[in-house]
Amino acid sequence: MAIILDGKKLRDKILEELRIQIDKFEKKPTLVVILVGDNPASKIYVNNKKKIAEKIGINSTVINYSSNVTEQEILSKIEELNNDKNITAILVQLPLPDNISKEKIINAISPSKDVDGFTPYNFGKLFSGEKPIVYPCTPKGVLLLLDEYEINLEGKHAVVIGRSNIVGRPMAQMLLNRNATVTICHSKTKNLSDIIKTADVVISAVGKNIIKGEMLKSDCVVVDVGIFKDNNGKTRGDVDFESASKIASYISPVPGGIGPMTITSLMLNTVELFAKHSEKF
Ligand code: NAP
Repeated sequence: MAIILDGKKLRDKILEELRIQIDKFEKKPTLVVILVGDNPASKIYVNNKKKIAEKIGINSTVINYSSNVTEQEILSKIEELNNDKNITAILVQLPLPDNISKEKIINAISPSKDVDGFTPYNFGKLFSGEKPIVYPCTPKGVLLLLDEYEINLEGKHAVVIGRSNIVGRPMAQMLLNRNATVTICHSKTKNLSDIIKTADVVISAVGKNIIKGEMLKSDCVVVDVGIFKDNNGKTRGDVDFESASKIASYISPVPGGIGPMTITSLMLNTVELFAKHSEKF
């Protein structure tokens, strides 16, 4: 049976370390989250981020716009936040309504306050093999969890399923930076099962139940980033946990795997930005 990659346990450990660190700061970091519209899942994510931030001593403000807010109003707010020395980190909760350009909004965030690492500056640094100011939260959380279990990635064949800017693409680049041999798969990939069968490490970020145990190579490492609700309203990942855990050597569960690690990375990134602002980088 596979060893469980326990995201909750690592989250609790890192958050406690951060709480102790923040407690020693004279001034506290401030995270601002911009939420547009009333997407129920986004509301839950944002409330969760606020709750955890406050628990460890990070000031957290949520700016909630109705879905008929104009792009210009959000851009003006971001400019104000960029210029406000009391603000450490800015996060725009995605998805945004269709009438608002995600690119324009993200691009407006100062790279030095870009806690998700999504601005062209930080993305460009990552994809050119340099260090961004901070790394995107979900892939960072995946690597923190793999590191905790001392899973070496060098020379391993890592198969990333999904190519979004939030997860798949930065994940693949970060694995490449760790000297893994990386294959990126997506909805147009042919013979997905054949490719998965050759993977030492499978990282799936799709949002559909697409991986069964028999598709995996013996003793591979499985990281399940996907989250969706099945027909019974139960939270599921991309991987059939029961069959996969009989074949893999390590596996992350859903829930309790990458979800807690993503929020942990957000808190780490906020504190990293705070420290960098203090150094006046
Ligand atoms: P996304 O933007 O919808 O991307 C999904 C990706 O999956 C796309 O690249 C798509 O390919 C690919 N895909 C769809 N069907 C496929 C199939 N049958 N076979 C292979 N690839 C397929 O989603 P996302 O934002 O990256 O998120 C992915 C999943 O991770 C979601 O379930 C999301 O809820 C979850 N997530 C979890 C966390 C966490 O903290 N645990 C964080 C972020 C996201 P195309 O590019 O060809 O369309």
